[in-house]
Amino acid sequence: MEPMISFQGVHKWFGDLHVLKGIDFSVNPGEVVVICGPSGSGKSTMIRCINKLEPIQRGTIMVDGMDINAPTTDLTRVRAEIGFVFQQFNLYPHMTALENIILAPIKVRKMSREEAEALALDILEKVGMREKADHYPAQLSGGQQQRVAIARGLAMKPKIMLFDEPTSALDPEMINEVLDVMKGLAREGMTMVVVTHEMGFAREVAHRVVFMDEGSLIESAPPKVFFSNPKSERTRLFLSKIL
Ligand code: ADP
Ligand code: MG
Repeated sequence: MEPMISFQGVHKWFGDLHVLKGIDFSVNPGEVVVICGPSGSGKSTMIRCINKLEPIQRGTIMVDGMDINAPTTDLTRVRAEIGFVFQQFNLYPHMTALENIILAPIKVRKMSREEAEALALDILEKVGMREKADHYPAQLSGGQQQRVAIARGLAMKPKIMLFDEPTSALDPEMINEVLDVMKGLAREGMTMVVVTHEMGFAREVAHRVVFMDEGSLIESAPPKVFFSNPKSERTRLFLSKIL
């Protein structure tokens, strides 16, 4: 099976700062991988490299068979296959939930407005937000906004969903409604890379948990092994702080 995402010897610098130090990493189709690690370890940078929000200086990144750094690769096509959900929901404030969702399908997928609206309503239903279709972001709670942001990602029918600390900006009582939507996606077989410290989510749905520290991947194991028997002392120390 060809991996959906693969990193080979990936290095990245911000000026003199070496933030990714030779990353080898791959994700198979349908796999759910959780990435955890201390603040500043390079998690966001790594995940942002997957759709080339950040360029790399050395190594190769393949996404669904496409070398994303090859000059001939159509980045629009790569990005159309990837939904990205950030900590901050980044919805357009002057557009309703529905309008936020139909934007990309109309622009990038060239769907008709009618078709895009029907699709958007289906997806809003799926994330439990259909009745809020005509609400503006300011009229929604953080958890509801994040569910709309997920719906917006799904509207492009992506092959991959990336999540960068999707619940970190939420009040505690809203975390589960977002995690539940993500768990549903995981169970449906979506390929997912999730940066999170929600270890309950990792235990329940991740196929693999990866620990990152100071720009390197230190450990990668199925959740059972990762939590009960981490190999690295650094992983143990990190887990002892967050669990
Ligand atoms: P994490 O998501 O694990 O907290 P990041 O990937 O955000 O880590 O950051 C890794 C390192 O890169 C940190 O030292 C951070 O300060 C630095 N960094 C991140 N983005 C930039 C940037 N745009 N310019 C310069 N340094 C950056
Ligand atoms: Mg980060």
